[in-house]
Amino acid sequence: MTPVLVINSGSSSFKYQLLDMDTERTLASGLVERIGDALGVARHTVYAAPTDGPAAAFLDATRTRELPIADHTAGFGVMLEAFESDGPSLTDSPPGAVGHRVVHGGARFFEPTLITPLVEINIDELAVLAPLHNPANLAGIRAARAAFPDVPHVAVFDTAFHQTLSPAAYTYAIDAEIAASHRIRRYGFHGTSHKFVSDAAAAFLGRPLSELKQIVFHLGNGASVTAIDGGRSIDTSMGFTPLEGLVMGTRSGDIDPAALFHLSRRAGMSIDELDDLVNRRSGLLGLAGSNDLRDIRAAIARGDERAMLGFEVYVHRLRSYAGAYLAQLGGADVISFTAGVGENAPAVRAGALATLGFAGVEIDPVRNEAPERGIRIISTDASAVTVLVVPTDEELEIARQTLGAARP
Ligand code: ADP
Repeated sequence: MTPVLVINSGSSSFKYQLLDMDTERTLASGLVERIGDALGVARHTVYAAPTDGPAAAFLDATRTRELPIADHTAGFGVMLEAFESDGPSLTDSPPGAVGHRVVHGGARFFEPTLITPLVEINIDELAVLAPLHNPANLAGIRAARAAFPDVPHVAVFDTAFHQTLSPAAYTYAIDAEIAASHRIRRYGFHGTSHKFVSDAAAAFLGRPLSELKQIVFHLGNGASVTAIDGGRSIDTSMGFTPLEGLVMGTRSGDIDPAALFHLSRRAGMSIDELDDLVNRRSGLLGLAGSNDLRDIRAAIARGDERAMLGFEVYVHRLRSYAGAYLAQLGGADVISFTAGVGENAPAVRAGALATLGFAGVEIDPVRNEAPERGIRIISTDASAVTVLVVPTDEELEIARQTLGAARP
């Protein structure tokens, strides 16, 4: 057995997952949250081995504890105790490597990277570009390296997959010197998921990744779409930050920046208020009162007009990007949908591709509506472009990349 521990650390919480990489099965997962509050919460789930069938994990037992958790290091102590008391014991079978999700790798990190003190300094320095995320990721890295000093730790960057974008795709048309001195360019995010899904699509179809032109829609609370040519990201909708591109749960996606200048000048809104507006009070939430697409669908069923408009704006944007990326790729072989919305909302998938019959895209309504869960085809047999639903698994992708980078 080769266990790999994956850590996804936020500012006041972290998620973890232990995977056996011989079978790619999840052994345990958990969440430590409300770090620094009077009372923190730690949840640990152990998965039993499936008795037969595919190597999908199924739920065995979850235990939740409430206790004060002062900082990330204390949180790791709580996690280690959970592994010892509920299993599997990390003392008996320590992880062979620890993988860390890191949001921003700037233009410096283009592959999974073995963490050294110098890499930590670089991640810290990149906090200029991701002030909310990189310091939180680093807190997790430091706590994990203290807890597991003798195993390799690997950073897997959300931006890395998009480092293959050409200068034409990543350069903003603004004053070149200002852009260069402040590192203003498109970086793209969700790279781990886009890579996982495009690899999985090729494997599922039994076709070489190098021969496929793919479009991947990652539609969760955050949402982005990527054009992938032969396994390389050539265009992606998120940019300098995860704000750009698609309509999201609470983010506006694309908006004329001059609208924000106007709000600053005319409505006296501060930079922080504008930041809050477009990142946390916009998207589906701003348009229709909820960031959860299930609520929007239920409201549409009741005849709610705001919800209808919210849904239409959401789908209109998806269609625009689908068209743009078909043009950038010169056509596509595969279009995949993933994440909470992409995996569970047939109406979104149908709406996004409804007008693309001219490009050989034909969704099968019965396949699209079928309540299946695994990777599946939802296009007709006659469709020139294969349309898939591909459940994403960012932890597994991080674990795979971690193992690859940790092995000499
Ligand atoms: P995150 O970006 O936080 O990882 P997820 O990928 O889990 O998000 O997606 C969460 C979103 O997925 C929810 O906010 C909701 O809009 C959507 N969602 C989840 N389940 C369903 C469903 N059954 N039908 C429609 N939308 C769903």
